[in-house]
Amino acid sequence: MHTGRGVVVIGAGVSGLTTAICLAEAGYQVSVVAEEADLNTTSCAAGAIWGPYLSQDERVLPWSDETRQILLGLAADLGATGVRSVHGLEAARVPTTPPAWAAPLPGYRTATPGELPAGFSNGWWYSAPLVDMPVYLRYLRGRLDATGTAVEQRTVDAFSEAATPDKVVVNCTGAGAGKLTGDASIMPTRGQLAVVENPGVDEFFCEHDESRLPIYYLPHGGQLVLGGSIEPGRWDRAPDADVARQIVAQCATIEPRVAGAKVLDHRVGIRPNRPKVRLEHERIGALDVIHNYGHGGAGVTVSWGCALAVTRIVAALGDR
Ligand SMILES: Cc1cc2nc3c(=O)[nH]c(=O)nc-3n(C[C@H](O)[C@H](O)[C@H](O)COP(=O)(O)OP(=O)(O)OC[C@H]3O[C@@H](n4cnc5c(N)ncnc54)[C@H](O)[C@@H]3O)c2cc1C
Repeated sequence: MHTGRGVVVIGAGVSGLTTAICLAEAGYQVSVVAEEADLNTTSCAAGAIWGPYLSQDERVLPWSDETRQILLGLAADLGATGVRSVHGLEAARVPTTPPAWAAPLPGYRTATPGELPAGFSNGWWYSAPLVDMPVYLRYLRGRLDATGTAVEQRTVDAFSEAATPDKVVVNCTGAGAGKLTGDASIMPTRGQLAVVENPGVDEFFCEHDESRLPIYYLPHGGQLVLGGSIEPGRWDRAPDADVARQIVAQCATIEPRVAGAKVLDHRVGIRPNRPKVRLEHERIGALDVIHNYGHGGAGVTVSWGCALAVTRIVAALGDR
């Protein structure tokens, strides 16, 4: 146990829980405060396949790779963690150079023309971690609970009410960070998915596109998660029946077995989109605040890398 400063983490999505775990397992006295608990967060709605995003930011690929290694380790206990490694195809409708992060992945190869769905011009196969978020968030919460860390459910309206200056505050509030920090660059971006009974699909498919309704399907054993929507500026979290119908219909154009699959659930989350992830220390009045938000559509992908980076910043702050 560190004798130095305690840490208050605001947020209990994948960023908050992972960060709290890294700090608590490093010996810090940690507590978590969150408006909504793990299973009601945006994180629980994610698909969630590992795939770096905004990778022109030089921090993103190291964070992503660190996370991938840790997720692959957790995949050894799929039943407890909900993490597996899956093989699948990413494909583009217009000729596209595969992202640099793809080639080093296991199972990487260029798709042959015969392997591409109609209307797609090129594609590439690879294996990546795929995370069943409801199972994974329960696993993270259990791992955090095992450190003796308390999770309190309440809304924080100002950093000064979250902690006294002897503690460090870590801000993992996702799309809620705009309100708490006044950061106008954060753009809440609604995403909806449909979960169907898996009709026998064991490889993922992802359309390489950032359109409003990119097509993807992700096999989680008996369930197939179908995506998805990207709706900037929309905050409502009730499933939209029209969007759901379009998602199923679009996925069925690539994988016809999806058309007759029983719909089990709909998931909606608000992505914390931002031109860049905000991971930095800020002095606010007498408080040391470390921001860890703005992960957009890839918060799971960078979660462990970001959490470990926050832990290093807390260590560097020392006892001051
Ligand atoms: C449909 C969809 C599909 C996605 N697919 C993927 C994918 O395949 N791969 C991937 O890597 N990512 C994916 N994402 C993105 C990923 O879900 C997010 O980047 C990630 O969940 C962000 O996690 P977070 O913990 O930062 O935020 P959140 O999960 O939103 O958690 C924020 C936490 O902060 C709390 N909070 C907010 N404001 C306050 C306040 N004022 N006081 C107290 N608590 C507060 C909230 O209650 C919550 O506990 C997807 C997202 C969506 C919506």
